[in-house]
Amino acid sequence: MTKFTGKGVYGAVAIGKAVVFRRQDAQVKRQHVEDTAAEIARLSAAEDAAIAQLEEIYNKALTEVGEANAQIFEIHRMMVEDEDFNESIIGMINSRNVNAEYAVAVAADNFAAMFSSMDDAYMQARAADIRDISNRIIKCLSDSTSAGSKLTESVIICADDLAPSETVLLDKDKVLAFVTAHGSSNSHTAILARSMNIPAIIGVGTDFLSAVSDGDTAIADGFTGEFILSPDASALSAAQEKKKQDEEKRDLLQKLKGKDNVTRDGRKINIFANIGSADSIGEALINDAGGIGLFRSEFLYLESSDYPGEEEQFRVYKRVLESMAGRKVIIRTLDIGADKQADYFMLGKEENPALGLRGVRLCLARPEIFLTQLRALYRASVYGTLGIMFPMITSASEIRDIYALCSKAKDQLADAGIEYSDKVELGIMIETPAAAIISDSLAPLVDFFSVGTNDLIQYTLACDRQNPDLERFCDTHHEAVMRLIEFTAKNAHKHKKWIGICGELAADTSLTKAFINMGIDELSVSPSFVLRVREAVRQIDLRKGAKKTDDKEMADI
Ligand code: PEP
Ligand code: MG
Repeated sequence: MTKFTGKGVYGAVAIGKAVVFRRQDAQVKRQHVEDTAAEIARLSAAEDAAIAQLEEIYNKALTEVGEANAQIFEIHRMMVEDEDFNESIIGMINSRNVNAEYAVAVAADNFAAMFSSMDDAYMQARAADIRDISNRIIKCLSDSTSAGSKLTESVIICADDLAPSETVLLDKDKVLAFVTAHGSSNSHTAILARSMNIPAIIGVGTDFLSAVSDGDTAIADGFTGEFILSPDASALSAAQEKKKQDEEKRDLLQKLKGKDNVTRDGRKINIFANIGSADSIGEALINDAGGIGLFRSEFLYLESSDYPGEEEQFRVYKRVLESMAGRKVIIRTLDIGADKQADYFMLGKEENPALGLRGVRLCLARPEIFLTQLRALYRASVYGTLGIMFPMITSASEIRDIYALCSKAKDQLADAGIEYSDKVELGIMIETPAAAIISDSLAPLVDFFSVGTNDLIQYTLACDRQNPDLERFCDTHHEAVMRLIEFTAKNAHKHKKWIGICGELAADTSLTKAFINMGIDELSVSPSFVLRVREAVRQIDLRKGAKKTDDKEMADI
């Protein structure tokens, strides 16, 4: 039995087989091939496919990011065709009877090492390009996707780290838990784990990965952050007991379904759910969410290998609105960038991606992408109660630019004779200190505010939410953050607008009373937290001198 400790980011216990998540580029195995001519033909077909892909990407980049930026794909194409590179691969297949994937990977390693050792900085940078094209050829050689997305049984996924795009592609029904060597509790992977109800532990350290063999029995305790490999009988029975108790507590919470979110002295609040896909609507409904407070629409883009079209998006938004049967649904427009990357956006490398072209900035820089989403949203608006929310706002001028595009999208629909609703609420996320500080001027422009505490904390405390080393400096209850929220709530109400919180802090029940005192009207949390927050709300008494009731009373309420 070996114990590793990290930080639990979703409290639940999983017991099952552990599997190491391997990315495709780490999967290349050396295999013996007899028919080398057939292997070379396979290589040539894969290179043709890679070239076709690169030409397509080049053309797309040309129109979207200009010739100078598109040039890199032309260079990649030339690299695939490079004679020396190909001679090296073919020579290896012929002389060592190895499979094409292996020969490509070894040739790429050799060329990358050669480029890296050159004095010229430009040539050194070509090492990354050669690895990039070798991955592309290897992908074309085998159409298999990453190990984790092809799970055949339920497992605990062990990984160095997981990008949001990798996490969304996992077969959620087969993931018992996530355990990662790195990661931070506010990363989107951690958020996804919470919204998927999956025990998750981050920051376990790299050693644990070499200790895990696929199929080992393991315990992932998301409450304590402990990951136990090959547990002995007593650890196993303790974990089974804890899992049972947790399930009983969840069952108890079910008794709160259908009850109001009301404090003992009668203050009501909305408790909504955060979701990342239409498939999570069931979870939101089972947990009795009053509406959807945040639909992270970017996951639709992260799950795709190309821009989702208007029709595809419309169908998803319509499904969400119809499933919520008139309850409010707030869909956040595309918040791609920073840690949420989709290759086909071809975003340039940024020194500080969290401070870069993300969220609404990207949408304003690429209005065609934004207009497609806005048309899809407005088309869906007739099927329920829709609110549209815009991320990463810092100035009033952005809101004006957004509104101009909303009008354009509506005009385009009207010209095409397509129906849309005029009752769509438009709101903004308050997730930059700038937006909070000027909330007095922003409030008259919008219907509502929703505080994105994950980013508000990151930007206020200057703590990269992706950096696990900053956890100790990142006090999520910091006075500066609390004051900004309170100040924004005052400004919202001054202008008779409602204000919610949709960042992870909304589910922190140690703050529920403080938030209600600030006048927060809505808390939007992962579906599995809805009833826990309801429980907390129902135990609060805002009257002076009133004491908090204890847990046991919960069932009687
Ligand atoms: C936030 O920043 O709090 C938020 C809800 O948005 P995201 O976590 O997707 O950045
Ligand atoms: Mg955010």
